[in-house]
Amino acid sequence: MGIHMNGTSSSNGHPRFSVYLDHAATTPVLPEVLEAMLPYFTVKSGNPSSVHAWGRAAHQGMEAARRQVAAVLNCRPRDVVFTSGGTESDNFALKGVAWAYRRGMFPDKPPSTGPGHIIISAIEHHAILHSAEELEHHGFEVTVLPVDKYGSVDPDAVARALRSDTVLVSIMYANNEIGTIQPIEDISRIAHEGGALFHTDAVQAGGYLDLDVDRLGADLLSLSAHKFHGPKGVGVLYVRQSVALLPQQHGGSQESRRRASTENVPGIVGLGAALTRAHQNLQSDVQYARGLRDTLITGIMKRIPDVHLMGHPERRLPNNANFCIEGVEGETMLLKLDMRGIGASSGAACASGSTEPSHVLRALGVPRELAQGSLRLTPGIDNSPEEIAYALDVLENCVTELRETQAVASS
Ligand code: PLP
Repeated sequence: MGIHMNGTSSSNGHPRFSVYLDHAATTPVLPEVLEAMLPYFTVKSGNPSSVHAWGRAAHQGMEAARRQVAAVLNCRPRDVVFTSGGTESDNFALKGVAWAYRRGMFPDKPPSTGPGHIIISAIEHHAILHSAEELEHHGFEVTVLPVDKYGSVDPDAVARALRSDTVLVSIMYANNEIGTIQPIEDISRIAHEGGALFHTDAVQAGGYLDLDVDRLGADLLSLSAHKFHGPKGVGVLYVRQSVALLPQQHGGSQESRRRASTENVPGIVGLGAALTRAHQNLQSDVQYARGLRDTLITGIMKRIPDVHLMGHPERRLPNNANFCIEGVEGETMLLKLDMRGIGASSGAACASGSTEPSHVLRALGVPRELAQGSLRLTPGIDNSPEEIAYALDVLENCVTELRETQAVASS
């Protein structure tokens, strides 16, 4: 652990660390994952659709990865569709189901039932929000459910929103900004009782939460390898056997005619290796990340006054700590932290001179001024306790400095 320490001393006597605390954005590929991928760039670099030995070697690697994913999701290998990442999986789920409905592929629910209705939440990733907006341009109707102050979706609100032409309910498993985990099993049950399919964006859950699709009641589920120490640009859409889904990418007959394009074999092999490792180490990874997260949360709440923890206090990802810090500006803080070797993120971005809170903070009802001081810290299994201690010291200093500067500027 602690691979980022560079060992030299800084002027204030602290060991100099560079501490990556942005694992919700992406994670480094682990050495064993890279090792599993390497042959598929060189000696096994055939096209998996080719009949010759090179093609067969690539095909075998890809199918082994499909079995690895299926073992973690508790599904059939053929229900696993490899994609280019979380964004494509989310687009595919929403548009694939919506257009299948329009095409009359839901025998119990013909298009004459209504224009086609989809339910999502206000804090979904933009891959879902923008896909839903796009479908609205084509006459589909979308209900965007609000969340409470912790970012939780009320299952009863899902029940109330269901209609006879609701084809899909899509609610994320865990939020990427505030880490809140949704009551997925309750929501999927309600969706099914109302005759709708259920999709969950599990991109942030991969590596930390149980992904058994039967237990979750998911008909469709999105994953992205780079969130659990696999490579970027490769993901999964799980599609239950009974689900009608229209391909969104046309061409060859790859992925059982569901997703045309030569598969990213090294990426797929890396995804399989990374997901298997994460699954095998789930308990210890969760325990380790939670320890670091809790040190961050308790340290920050104790050492820095006027800080608010965002997201659910208990039902949150083990590696997510998200705060709004009064009297500081999020982006300035990120730059200051970066200069001192700390990689973090903010849920507020500077747009033409004023700080705009993210759609997630807005949905929580966080006042604009408080949202300005948004800070997300997402540690990972490659962080050490020493790095967290260093980050806490730096953070405390940064906030004090920023507040002093602010006070001088406004006096
Ligand atoms: N969904 C969630 C919840 C995410 O956090 C992300 C990435 O940040 C995505 C979807 C998109 O995944 P990708 O970067 O693989 O396209």
